[in-house]
Amino acid sequence: MKLKNKVALVTGAGGGLGRSYALLFAKEGAKVVVNDLGGTRDGGGAGSAMADKVVAEIKEMGGEAVANYGSVSNAADAQAMVDQAVSAFGKIDIVVNNAGILRDKTLVKMTDEMWDLVIEVHLKGTYLVTKAAVLAMSENGGRIINTSSLAGLLGNYGQANYGAAKAGIAGLTRVVAKETQKMGITVNAIAPVAKTRMTQEISMVPESFEPEDIAPLVGWLASDEASHVTGRVFGAHGSHYFEYVVEQTPGIDLGEKRWTLESVGQRFDEITAMPKGAPVLDEASGGLVEDARKLFAAIPATYRAEKAGDWKAKMKFDLGGLATFSLIVAGGATEFLDGAVDGATATVTFDGPQTILDMARGVLAPEQAFMGGKVKTDNMGALMKFGQYFNLGKAAAVLGDIAPVAGAAPGKHGLNKDLVGKVHRGSAAFVLKEDIQAFAGATDDQTNPAYLDGTQAPAIFPVRPLLSMLHAAIADPELNADMLRLVHGEQDMRFHRHLKPWDLAAPRAEIQSIETKASGELLNIRQWLMVDGELTTEVISGLFIRGESKGGGEKKPAAEAPKREYIYSEKHTVSSDQPSRYADASLDRNPIHLDPDVAKAAGHPSVILHGLCTMAFASRAVINGACGGKPERLQRLKVRFSKPVLPGWVLETRIWKESSTLGITTYGLEVVNQDGVAVITNAIAEVA
Ligand code: NAD
Repeated sequence: MKLKNKVALVTGAGGGLGRSYALLFAKEGAKVVVNDLGGTRDGGGAGSAMADKVVAEIKEMGGEAVANYGSVSNAADAQAMVDQAVSAFGKIDIVVNNAGILRDKTLVKMTDEMWDLVIEVHLKGTYLVTKAAVLAMSENGGRIINTSSLAGLLGNYGQANYGAAKAGIAGLTRVVAKETQKMGITVNAIAPVAKTRMTQEISMVPESFEPEDIAPLVGWLASDEASHVTGRVFGAHGSHYFEYVVEQTPGIDLGEKRWTLESVGQRFDEITAMPKGAPVLDEASGGLVEDARKLFAAIPATYRAEKAGDWKAKMKFDLGGLATFSLIVAGGATEFLDGAVDGATATVTFDGPQTILDMARGVLAPEQAFMGGKVKTDNMGALMKFGQYFNLGKAAAVLGDIAPVAGAAPGKHGLNKDLVGKVHRGSAAFVLKEDIQAFAGATDDQTNPAYLDGTQAPAIFPVRPLLSMLHAAIADPELNADMLRLVHGEQDMRFHRHLKPWDLAAPRAEIQSIETKASGELLNIRQWLMVDGELTTEVISGLFIRGESKGGGEKKPAAEAPKREYIYSEKHTVSSDQPSRYADASLDRNPIHLDPDVAKAAGHPSVILHGLCTMAFASRAVINGACGGKPERLQRLKVRFSKPVLPGWVLETRIWKESSTLGITTYGLEVVNQDGVAVITNAIAEVA
């Protein structure tokens, strides 16, 4: 028993979380004052039944408890509940400020009464009970555990009053912790998520998150063991415990100089940049850095001056913070610098020296390193030129352990068919309301209010949680996929249930098949999302890897388009920032969508839009035109991407009916641009 002979007051303990704390405290040997006003969820009414019931439960299990029916927001009541602990049990050791109500409304619809009531119960109530408790604990010390909330710490739509109160409680916790440390009192807060009366209608809180999952954290914070923990805020989402920390970036100090509006704008990224953890230069990484230094020193000798023309660059290479080297290119000459060059025109950051060594030795393809996040740059164009005008493979000869390879790319060609059936598993992550809203925003899907307020995810949204697994499968070094020749050809999505906030979604991917075609190879990757053991979304992405030899395969003349009776069509103009907005919302930051130099190098006039964003436009048209506006009726959407889409284009999705059996209607659809050129073809939608 960790709380033997302790005396605890739990406010709002007549149900939900407070009840589970009171029961656990009693089980651990504490005597409990069970406070509850006994009103409704929104703060109306009052009664003694709720507190009495929990007292009876404690007594039934052999514990000691008394009921208190006061309101935490009333100063006299707050004092009385602390006094009652002392009069009934002789002292007070533990207070859990847990009582609470909800009056949710968006700011513009909120009345002053709703604001005042919520602030009164949560913030003022916590203040009043804490003040009375601190006075009573000042000699013998104690434990105070407050209740904050994600709504206040991270923000939540429609809860300005509640969020303000809960953020206020986090602030109160930190301040009072400082003020009471010398009295031996600890003050902490928790931000729980569990199914209770308060959250019963909020579908994003899973039924499986029970108050009993949260209670052990509160019980431990209340125990003697936690005497060193104070002024901190912990999250408890069901059985997932974590800490909320407030971070401060190192920022920029201009010293004597004064900021101007211009300099704030220019240096905003530096002001807000988070430092990386300090890397450790141990013996092993020291050896790698030495090898990398040799390699970089040998790079200038491989310069293809005749190709580079008058290219000028100052390239800085950071090896995961362990070392910095530079290459200065001017006119026909290049020079290696052991350190950082002043006024770098491009910074290339490797996750460590191993990556550049692997690339030079030809065991890691540059595209794989890039897609896998092992290499980052602020100037993609310069990095591509670096790849073209220097020969890393040749420079690797100085490492003495390999025969130099002709180019930087690995020698092997063709996909490794042994990998068919290999499954990649990602860790589960919550579907967040703000991610849903961002995705709906980036795909201009403003038609469905459920997407806008973030209570339901758009049909195509699962591609976001699945992306990391798709990348893991493609960038698997054993697969040997040449990313620069890869084209996303088809996407087939089956929707068993559309996602909603707080779904804890676990992504998976499997290499389903690899087929050799006349002009390349077709790689089918199956991806799926599991939520609580339930399969919600299945996807097959068909990726085509163009063969080395251009030409050969004669294009068949396009068949005459059949006459179709369209039942619905919808137009959409691709905005100039659509690729970057979609990149942010989907996490797919392939530079072909963001960097004009990369797009040009790949033969496009400008950055191109993600195929899946075009698919999202098509899904919206299907939901509007064939599902009667009800997303849950969409069972499957399969498309073929036939042409890259450019910003500024006006796309039209046209839908026609194909067949209907067993309650499922199959529609055909296509997406064409303003010149009638099809960008999505051979598409079908199955609608229930
Ligand atoms: P709940 O409604 O079951 O519990 C709140 C209790 O407080 C009720 O029994 C109510 O009668 C009592 N109460 C209300 N006003 C009172 C007053 N003025 N004086 C005394 N008692 C009063 O809800 P819950 O989910 O158990 O909530 C407990 C605490 O956890 C609240 O502070 C809530 O804001 C917080 N919280 C809960 C969740 C969650 O997911 N359940 C999430 C974040 C924060």
